Amino acid sequence: MFVLNAGSRELQLVEGDITKIAVDAIVNAANSHLAGGGGVDGAIHAAGGPEIMSELSAIRQRIGRCPAGGAVATNAGRLPAKFVFHAVGPIYGDGKAGEAAQLESCYRTCLNMAAERKIETISFPSISTGAYGYPFHDASLIALQTVMAWLKAHAGPVSVVKLVQFSASDHRVYCNLARKIQSSLASGASS
Ligand code: ADP
Repeated sequence: MFVLNAGSRELQLVEGDITKIAVDAIVNAANSHLAGGGGVDGAIHAAGGPEIMSELSAIRQRIGRCPAGGAVATNAGRLPAKFVFHAVGPIYGDGKAGEAAQLESCYRTCLNMAAERKIETISFPSISTGAYGYPFHDASLIALQTVMAWLKAHAGPVSVVKLVQFSASDHRVYCNLARKIQSSLASGASS
């Protein structure tokens, strides 16, 4: 595990299966139809059980689809969490269709939802980097920078944010980027 400190709060980089890590809220990489799918979405519904989809179906009937950059909250079924936040990442095209702003919005929206619910710990998968094709390095940088900026700007209950990578090579990408952010923070602090 690699840790970036934001005051007394922590951004942790963790390699593993997000369905096995206990937190208050687990973020899912959902699709805009909130209909379940493969990848981390499939793993979350499989591990959490049908209670999550029943609540999601009721939300779908009420709001229709959820746009990219947005998120909705449900119960967490059998998962080791209180909530699942279903965030809709952008489908990556050429990178010029607002994908970066939508991806940033996923992280910010879920962190705001965590603060509203007064919860302390939240975990994120690497949103949009599987079936949705977002280049991994670029998406990782957005995840790290957006979470760090949010933690610095918001005092409050959220004290541990875990970014979870599913493979050792993905974890290395995050750790390398985090080291660069850490040294730029250190040089900024001393200048
Ligand atoms: P998207 O459709 O947003 O691209 P995917 O589920 O296809 O979502 O992939 C998003 C990321 O989630 C990928 O980096 C993939 O390796 C990762 N992933 C898949 N399963 C898990 C899991 N059980 N725990 C954590 N991350 C996972």
